[in-house]
Amino acid sequence: MLVVDAHEDIAYNAICFGRDYRRSVLATRRLENGTDIPAHNGIATVGSPDALLGRVAVTFATLFVAPKSKNPSPWDILSYNDEKQAYKLAAQQMDYYERLNDESEKINLIKTLPDLEAVLATWADGKEIGDHQQGLVILMENADPIIEPKQFEEWYERGVRIVGPAWQGTRYCGGTGQPGPLTNLGRDLLNIMADFNAILDLSHMAEESYLEAVDRYEGVIIASHSNPRRFRNSDRHLSDDMIRRLAERDGVMGIVLYNAFLSNTWKKGEKLPLATVIAAIDHVCQVTGSAAHVGLGSDFDGGFGLESVPDELDTVGDLWTIGKALREHGYHEADIQAILGGNMIRKIRQILPES
Ligand SMILES: [Zn+2]
Repeated sequence: MLVVDAHEDIAYNAICFGRDYRRSVLATRRLENGTDIPAHNGIATVGSPDALLGRVAVTFATLFVAPKSKNPSPWDILSYNDEKQAYKLAAQQMDYYERLNDESEKINLIKTLPDLEAVLATWADGKEIGDHQQGLVILMENADPIIEPKQFEEWYERGVRIVGPAWQGTRYCGGTGQPGPLTNLGRDLLNIMADFNAILDLSHMAEESYLEAVDRYEGVIIASHSNPRRFRNSDRHLSDDMIRRLAERDGVMGIVLYNAFLSNTWKKGEKLPLATVIAAIDHVCQVTGSAAHVGLGSDFDGGFGLESVPDELDTVGDLWTIGKALREHGYHEADIQAILGGNMIRKIRQILPES
């Protein structure tokens, strides 16, 4: 059994909050004890040592920058006024991932199929815990750092394999809280991404943009971190119709393990049972009639932490317990493996180049 986590903002957290990904979650919690980081960004749940112990073999690691907000906070060091700034800030995050790749034997950037197979081989039967390695696939969340569509080539060369054009609305399309269609620039970007066989990440795309993109995009699609609206009714999430359209194109959606995205009524400080995660996963399976279109996109370091995640999940090393809960719910072994990681691996195998 292997786990794929389709959404973590590792570099953003390293640069904004000094969260070294090579550190264990426990070490980060100790270091941040008495600082205002946990109050602002949540109690840490992400670290490579924990991921490795929890059999997280592959993580989709983001380049994430935000437009400058109207009420700037001291933490806004990765926000931008224009696309040139966005480009620079995202490039710093790419530098961070390259450093992780160069300096850690355990962490590898996955840019090609052989890169992926090399990581998976470290988890093969007969390998020991000390052999395991983790692969990072680079996902750009919010495409404003792509200065113009043809400049995507440069990002692809550096290793970006997945692009989500939206966060809020961007120059490319409508986004969360900012409804709207794909722009002409967005249509150009999709054409160029398809030429490179990159994955289109539909998460955060406004419904109108989403529906056009699902039909228009010729390459592979996922929604790296989106939940069913059935449990959390907001434009950030997917209606049953949107889920069906994703599945018709063999897309996969990663369930976000954030209480506020799993319930319409959850309030900070309340507990939420792990069963709510199983209900979200099960809903996607029921709507699509298959276990092939759902995975995990924890978003565990996406501005919340331990205080806001379902019971039984303490760190990213506990994602496998969702498999245990699915088993207790009557899921078959092959489907559990697909949901925990196999579905997302199927998608990246389709797009990674041979060399
Ligand atoms: Zn996000």
